[in-house]
Amino acid sequence: MRVFVITGAGVSAESGIPTFRGKDGYWRNLDPAKLATPEAFARDPRLVWEWYGERRQRIRNAQPNAAHAAITRLAQIADEFLLVTQNVDDLHGRAGLPREKMVQIHGDIFLTKCSRCDFGFTDYDHDHEHEEEEGNVVSRCSKCDALMRPGVIWFGEQLPSNELQQIENYLDRGVCDLVIVVGTTAAFGPIVDWALRASHDGGELSEVNPEETPLSQFATRLVREPAAIALPRIVDTIVAGV
Ligand SMILES: [Zn+2]
Repeated sequence: MRVFVITGAGVSAESGIPTFRGKDGYWRNLDPAKLATPEAFARDPRLVWEWYGERRQRIRNAQPNAAHAAITRLAQIADEFLLVTQNVDDLHGRAGLPREKMVQIHGDIFLTKCSRCDFGFTDYDHDHEHEEEEGNVVSRCSKCDALMRPGVIWFGEQLPSNELQQIENYLDRGVCDLVIVVGTTAAFGPIVDWALRASHDGGELSEVNPEETPLSQFATRLVREPAAIALPRIVDTIVAGV
């Protein structure tokens, strides 16, 4: 069984991670859509780092939910498996999904990378003392002295080419028996395209989302429930049928 799963903010929302949509997503009266940009970082890097510092802390305090656990279980019984997530948190990883079975298409919030060269490091456990990025001083690259920035893809930036290639390679290797798209509005360009390519030859395409999305019209199965409720049941059924 070849499986392809796409997850979005709806999966992490049930772990208490805000989706940054609408008025509830505001931080200090600032619109996240305007903070998560190269322009905002150029204007006020310290402000942008404060926001990411708070988000990192919130994610460290959050726990993976039943949807994350169900996806890990699905990966364990599939012959081939790839997850593409729009989420920048580490909850899929902490739910036990191996890194090589996952593509974080919008980057990794625990990655601190240079804004100019390829230097970077991750700090999942907060073992190191990198308080400077999360508070008062914005640190500089030890290689080239440019400002260090969060390792996420900001509005207006290109998707990372290595990650895109990983998805292309997986889709090129053959059709998927099962495609599940969970907790995403699917508004972000390539999602509908990837889901259709993966399932194009008769594979099942399930959408798990409380609301209708641009993908809904193509789905062979619509589940209008939150991910943490629907996914454990869906995976139970699949496990029983294997
Ligand atoms: Zn550098």
